Amino acid sequence: MRFKLSTSFLAILCATSFFLALHAQNDAPDEDTRAIEFPDIPGYVTLKCDLHMHTVLSDGSVWASIRVREALMDGLDAISITDHLDYQPKMKDIPHPDRNRGYELALESAKGTDLLVIPGAEITRSMPTGHFNALFVKDANKLNQKDVLEVFREAKNQGALVFWNHPHWTAQKPNGVAELTDMHKKLLSEGLFAGIEIYNDVTYSDEALEIAQEHHLAILGNSDVHGPIDWGYDISKGEHRPVTLVFATEKSVAAMQKAMEERRTAVWFENTLVGDALYLSPLVEQSLELSRAGKGPVPSVVIHNHSDADYILENLSEYRLHNQAKVFVLKAHQATTIEVKTVETLDSFELHFRVLNAFTSPDSHPEIKLVVE
Ligand SMILES: [Zn+2]
Ligand SMILES: [Zn+2]
Repeated sequence: MRFKLSTSFLAILCATSFFLALHAQNDAPDEDTRAIEFPDIPGYVTLKCDLHMHTVLSDGSVWASIRVREALMDGLDAISITDHLDYQPKMKDIPHPDRNRGYELALESAKGTDLLVIPGAEITRSMPTGHFNALFVKDANKLNQKDVLEVFREAKNQGALVFWNHPHWTAQKPNGVAELTDMHKKLLSEGLFAGIEIYNDVTYSDEALEIAQEHHLAILGNSDVHGPIDWGYDISKGEHRPVTLVFATEKSVAAMQKAMEERRTAVWFENTLVGDALYLSPLVEQSLELSRAGKGPVPSVVIHNHSDADYILENLSEYRLHNQAKVFVLKAHQATTIEVKTVETLDSFELHFRVLNAFTSPDSHPEIKLVVE
């Protein structure tokens, strides 16, 4: 009896320490939890960027310094203040002749931080043109002119990177379907824009993604924030602004522009990643740290997910799992143990998954391969 009691006591002790050990593997929630976190991938740093935002210098309701502070809280690497060139509803209250001012103010307030501030402006026209952002501009004032084609040509002269904003915006496209007009085809034929938002604020467009793929455009996802960022996304519930992920050779304005020109971008919104498998597969693989916790015919593998995404995986491995069905979730910043029925005892084996919450096109997902040593 006495002996029995102590074994159960021991069992409880073991179970408790096992639980504590598992628990300790979770990233401790720290004051930094609102910072958006994704790893770098081989050859590139992963820059988290919001490249569409407004201030009081057009129709936004905050000063540029607030945009910088919000970006730092969200752990962003780069932002662009893209106030409307040609929509100035506050001009009577805040007269300002200089369209570069938003950039200058943000740059000034980002001094001493490692936030990149990209000069930008929003070209704001009705259809058949719609809205476009010009980034990396040299002088936004020169884009403030009447003839829309001349605006785009001037942006090109300045070496800017121009992208189509919210092409699925129901105010301009009532059916919500992004579609190239003859004007867009003309702009494309002259090489006057190179990117497209597939996500804006809280709206997504599969058609925009298809346009990007057909015309080799960089994809972007941005907040287009006008009020305080926390009014748009409930941080306490784990929500976050959409971001454009830019895979650059280093964290600098020049490397970022080159990456965007070479279409090395992806988009992160809600719990979804969108982009080319060339970047998404390594991004997911680099997020995951594996450790083997046993040998034998059903080895346990602990997978620690260091990213902000809850990865929804479909098992494509040649082995079935002992504690999970074919589809399961690796929660963000947590360790998940899977038991793999290798049946024989193997020194090393490969796991193969499809990532269901990531999209390489409207209907397809990237795959990842993980080697367990
Ligand atoms: Zn717009
Ligand atoms: Zn806008």
